[in-house]
Amino acid sequence: MDHARAMDIEISNIMAEAINEADGTYNILVGNDMVSTKTIIIATGVPYKATLPREDFFLGKGLGYCATCDGPIYRAKDVLIIGHGEEAEHEANFMAEICSKVYYLPMYKEIGDLDQRIEIVNAQPRVIMGEDFVEGLELNNGQNIKVEGLFVLGAETSPERLVPGLEIADRHIRVNRNQETNLPGVYAAGDCTGPPYQIAKSVGEGQVAGLNASKYSSSGPTQRAPKGKSTY
Ligand SMILES: Cc1cc2nc3c(=O)[nH]c(=O)nc-3n(C[C@H](O)[C@H](O)[C@H](O)COP(=O)(O)OP(=O)(O)OC[C@H]3O[C@@H](n4cnc5c(N)ncnc54)[C@H](O)[C@@H]3O)c2cc1C
Repeated sequence: MDHARAMDIEISNIMAEAINEADGTYNILVGNDMVSTKTIIIATGVPYKATLPREDFFLGKGLGYCATCDGPIYRAKDVLIIGHGEEAEHEANFMAEICSKVYYLPMYKEIGDLDQRIEIVNAQPRVIMGEDFVEGLELNNGQNIKVEGLFVLGAETSPERLVPGLEIADRHIRVNRNQETNLPGVYAAGDCTGPPYQIAKSVGEGQVAGLNASKYSSSGPTQRAPKGKSTY
């Protein structure tokens, strides 16, 4: 980090929530900002795996992983946010502005800066209530909280959710020896590309990805592989 800072590289500690491509440029939603870039290296760690029963089923049916993306759907409604880290608080505060009621269930110890309107829930999630759509969350203390929206935030990101169209094999991002993914200009390194989950492997892949991304970035747009036909 010292080295990166010494090179004047801008570092942002905000969660990347969604990445979309338009005309060869990737637009990354970072908090309330949009960052546009030609090249990305994904190094998001071990991919998130659903932990609650029927979590996969409820995705898009009241359950989401990005509050700032789906938030407006829940305007004036009650939502519950399961926060896996402090970065989830930023999204919870955003929801407090637009929702009728926000419950926040932290999966970590030290809560930072939460909007006063948010009700903190000190229990563990057990079961998502509802048949076809989310109707609430059952907790391990026997309490049931009725909500229309449920968000799981700040856990490790599932790469295919972050970048639509990214090729996945056994939950991990598929890469070749150049650390290229199937999407031109998108590279991946570290635990997100698969085991062994070890520092030496992650750093090595990161170095290869860095060199190749840098080469790609400095090549003119004419040398860019056609959409869907990277050298992968
Ligand atoms: C308890 C423990 C002990 C370990 N011991 C060893 C050991 O002794 N030796 C060894 O070699 N390895 C060890 N490992 C494994 C090692 O830590 C990992 O292999 C290595 O950290 C992986 O590096 P990474 O950069 O791929 O991912 P990570 O270090 O997991 O970093 C990923 C980062 O991406 C961030 N992130 C995720 N999604 C987003 C997003 N959407 N936007 C912005 N940021 C995001 C995460 O918050 C995280 O900071 C251990 C791991 C654990 C958990």
